[in-house]
Amino acid sequence: MPVHTLFQGSLCLITLDTPPVNVIGLETRVGLVEALDAADAAGVQRIVITGAGSAFAAGSDTREFDSPPLAPHLPDILNRLERLPSIAAINGVALGGGLEIALACRMRIAAPGVALGLPEVTLGVVPGAGGTQRLPRLVGIASAAALISEGRRFTAEEALRMGIVDAIDADPVAAAKALPEAALADVLPASARPAPVADPEAIAAARARAGKRAKGQFAPQVALDLVAASAELPLPEGLARERAQFLNLRRGPQARALRHVFFAERAALARAKRFSVPPRDLKTAVVVGGGTMGAGIAYALDGIGLAVTLVETGTEAAARAEANLGKLFDDAVKRGKASPEASAQGKARIAVVTGYDALPAADIAIEAVFEDLAVKREVFAALDAALPETAILATNTSYLDVNEIFAGTRAPERCLGLHFFSPAHVMKLLEIIRAGTTSDETLASAFGLAAKLRKIAVEAGVCDGFIGNRILTRYRQICDVMLIEGALPWQVDAAMLGFGMAMGPYAVQDLSGLDIAYANRQRKNLRNAQGLRYIPVADRMVEDLGRLGHKTGAGWYDYGEGAPTPGAGVQALIEAASREAGITRRAFDAEEIRQRALTAMIDEGLRILDEGIARRAADIDLVLLHGYGFPRWRGGPMCEADRIGLPVLRDRIATYAKADPLSWSVPPLLQRLAEEGRSLADLDHEGG
Ligand code: NAD
Repeated sequence: MPVHTLFQGSLCLITLDTPPVNVIGLETRVGLVEALDAADAAGVQRIVITGAGSAFAAGSDTREFDSPPLAPHLPDILNRLERLPSIAAINGVALGGGLEIALACRMRIAAPGVALGLPEVTLGVVPGAGGTQRLPRLVGIASAAALISEGRRFTAEEALRMGIVDAIDADPVAAAKALPEAALADVLPASARPAPVADPEAIAAARARAGKRAKGQFAPQVALDLVAASAELPLPEGLARERAQFLNLRRGPQARALRHVFFAERAALARAKRFSVPPRDLKTAVVVGGGTMGAGIAYALDGIGLAVTLVETGTEAAARAEANLGKLFDDAVKRGKASPEASAQGKARIAVVTGYDALPAADIAIEAVFEDLAVKREVFAALDAALPETAILATNTSYLDVNEIFAGTRAPERCLGLHFFSPAHVMKLLEIIRAGTTSDETLASAFGLAAKLRKIAVEAGVCDGFIGNRILTRYRQICDVMLIEGALPWQVDAAMLGFGMAMGPYAVQDLSGLDIAYANRQRKNLRNAQGLRYIPVADRMVEDLGRLGHKTGAGWYDYGEGAPTPGAGVQALIEAASREAGITRRAFDAEEIRQRALTAMIDEGLRILDEGIARRAADIDLVLLHGYGFPRWRGGPMCEADRIGLPVLRDRIATYAKADPLSWSVPPLLQRLAEEGRSLADLDHEGG
């Protein structure tokens, strides 16, 4: 039974019970109506609502959001609940619809420390069962505007200070039962309370914050409209307007995309549990290379309690690695994340050494040395000799063939790629690279480690650049094609920022260094590659102009005082390249740039999926969202592909291919799915 009722004299205890966290779906709503009917019929003096197990109710069932809503609807149930003498005994987490149930009760008593919140905007919708109208009537416009438009969680103690809950008690059910009759009789239902005082300044401030934090997203702004309206409309009208907006947003593309991400993240977490072997408990780690990545990885591993030894080449490099680590610990103090003492202890904990002689018998070693196959192979040989044969050996290579790095090591089944993103202790994404030889136990242990590091882990097969960097390479290539045909880097960047990317592709290159991508192109000898349109612009930026990005103060942009400006000589260099190639430059508008760039990402994603490099289309989305600044509210490139429609995309690519057959051809998987009328979501669904 999803809802239990227990009558005790003139009291009715209603318990929500859909394990594990009492999510509210159709069955619960039906159960609630029956419970209220029964309580009404018995003429009880008091209703206490609580949750079974450790949760009150963690929200509405998002799986129902893709179908038309079915009666009974939660808002109607809560309008009825509000007229009854009810107390919410918030025994555990109360989110979304769960908190809205509590808000419709006359009083709320919460257990200490429980998490509350109205996180609907993070799923692209607004609270749909009274949250935007009842919360401001309890706490005023300013607090309600902040809580609802940010969707953040808060504790019972914060809620008590704000006036959302009336009391905190270790046994909220007992406290609700024991409450004197008079205490309840005096409390007005929300509908009988005066409307909150309008606060246009607080709304404007919350709008500005949401405009920055949730750029491009509708839901936070709509939520603020509704909170503002609570000061003007009688409750029934405010509730009706809220419901209409909720249903409207729920059907829209942003909510669909955010739900897609929500389920993709859940599926990625579940992947870690699917292995037949349990993950190994990793306690001791060796990190090789203490540069940008190695220091960040060492710091992150130390943060989850592993004993870390860092290997560098010589005393100078070791001193630089110590300094890199020191900066990470100091930053934590500056950001208020660690005390100076804890930080000093942390610095002392990580041993920095210059050879492999005195290494501990580590459970795992992660290599983050220069992106050079010969150097990485040497490191693997040294680790193989110095550590037990059972130690997991991982490489953080961005592009190289991990099989070649592992070749010659004993027991290659314990070798894999762990592709962290910079800064390694901050970025949520981890690509786990499965080589042909990697065992399930090794993979399971890598997923276990990722979970401890609180990272979103995605499994990828071996290819140049794995999932993320392979798509990035293609995206940049197509952007460079647009440069030589007539666009300029700052136009491309502005178009992609307008799409919602965190940064434009050329600004990103300036940040990471044009020499890095240059070295990578040299390695692949792209200048002479068959079947690829070679665009010389980026190579000439390095070779002719020596513009390497931020590190030289000059890349695609010039960096000085104030905002970056278009780089001196960059436009001339691009125009010269167009002339040499016999191209008459033409104007590109933002929409055309976006469409081509996005289509390039989707095209490469489809190939990655078809080749089995990614297991699911949704995994590709997670990589782009968590590692490359793709806007979450668009759901990722593969989610966009389904929204656009696969037949439309096939035709679009076919048109591109006619004009530029070296850069474009219809991916076979796209052709197949478009013909069969299937979507990428269908494909993921069938794959489980
Ligand atoms: P980096 O130049 O900042 O650091 C490399 C470090 O390795 C240096 O401190 C160097 O002294 C040390 N080193 C070189 N050879 C060594 C050896 N034989 N033994 C021990 N230490 C040695 O480089 P980085 O940016 O940290 O990149 C390291 C690896 O991580 C590369 O494979 C790179 O492709 C990959 N990666 C980099 C990023 C990034 O954004 N920087 C992101 C993901 C992956």
